[in-house]
Amino acid sequence: MVEEKEIVDKLAKGEIKLHEIEKYTDSVSQAVDIRRKFMETVSGTGLENISKYSLDMEEAMKKNIENPIGTIQIPVGVAGPLKVNGEHAQGDYYVPLATSEGALVASVNRGCSVITQSGGATVRIIDDKMTRAPVIKTDSVADALNIKKWIGENFQDLKETAESTTRHGKLIKIDPVIVVGRYVYPRFVFSTGDSMGMNMVTIATDTALDLLVEKTGAHVIALSGNVCVDKKPSALNLVEGRGKSLIAEIVVPRKIVEKKLKTTPAAIEEVNVSKNLIGSAIAGSMGFNAQYANMIGAIFLATGQDEAHIVEGSLGITTAEDKDGDLYFSVTLPDVPIATFGGGTRLETAQECLNIMGVLGSGKVQEFAEIVAATVLAGELSLLGALAAGHLARAHKDLGRG
Ligand code: NAP
Repeated sequence: MVEEKEIVDKLAKGEIKLHEIEKYTDSVSQAVDIRRKFMETVSGTGLENISKYSLDMEEAMKKNIENPIGTIQIPVGVAGPLKVNGEHAQGDYYVPLATSEGALVASVNRGCSVITQSGGATVRIIDDKMTRAPVIKTDSVADALNIKKWIGENFQDLKETAESTTRHGKLIKIDPVIVVGRYVYPRFVFSTGDSMGMNMVTIATDTALDLLVEKTGAHVIALSGNVCVDKKPSALNLVEGRGKSLIAEIVVPRKIVEKKLKTTPAAIEEVNVSKNLIGSAIAGSMGFNAQYANMIGAIFLATGQDEAHIVEGSLGITTAEDKDGDLYFSVTLPDVPIATFGGGTRLETAQECLNIMGVLGSGKVQEFAEIVAATVLAGELSLLGALAAGHLARAHKDLGRG
């Protein structure tokens, strides 16, 4: 084996590339150390904290990371108990939240307390799917419409071909098939078991496209034509849904609104209408809510979800009504791509956080989805309550900068 210093020197001269270090070392952890030392030399800064980790980097390198130099650390807090009355999640849960935003966990915790005291959040999964939409080029609009027709007429063959690549993935439909000029964008819609499914549906769609190309002579420009819509805010996803589509609701008795949120149902209703509905509408926002991304982001980081999907989880609409003196409050999240198997959920810290909720592995993703929706309800309720009570600034002063 080559000496560490020699490898660092060769890296500096460009004789060894960053991704080639493992070829010259006995172990992945040694390669990680050398790569980090090289970065310390290049940047002239110590990377002492990045060097400390307990993850099995050899395993992580198989699916989760390339050119590793260590890990970052994000504080994890817990909120709860949170009572969830779902179809899959039933009971009291503690929810791990990874964040550096002071006051977030405290705010969600307060929401959990309000929800639990009010009897628990009712949660339903209203849709469940993962999508991939390639872009296909044809010679003319007439040809484009012929491809669209062919897809409709040959769905069963496309389904069998797509499903030949996966045990858990099922092609539900190809819809919509959008035509723009002579381009065609068929949206392949799959169920994906307990995985988020992006790799799964990408491979399955690719294989189905081989059949389409063979039979029609169509030209696939790209496996993703952005109608998927993956990792971008999208009106299509807001309406059609992607990942888990979730609704959580609660009726909070007036006395609990007054005692714990220090406000009234009518004040919360007014904040919601003026801010989340009218304000978001005039801004052209697709997030008709106060802070879904805060809870989605913190849960995603804690549990090893694909963090770029936080942008999708930020979509959705909050409703709040003074209902005969009590508060009816709901969150609707059409686009929450999550998993309890695959992707980043195999990282050791993610597994521990999933285990806190008892939702690690196969057969658990629906339960996890319902907990996520109830947690978003808790954070949203707490923030709107705080805004209504006018004590948001004080909470941030005390907890964020203390
Ligand atoms: P994955 O890590 O490839 O895991 C899914 C695989 O696990 C499936 O292919 C499935 O095998 C297997 N599996 C075993 N038990 C399962 C169960 N109970 N439910 C579902 N699957 C089970 O990842 P993925 O979820 O397909 O994709 C997530 C990863 O894709 C993330 O790391 C994400 O960052 C990345 N990603 C990729 C793209 C892309 O374009 N490729 C885009 C965005 C994100 P079978 O298929 O045989 O059923």
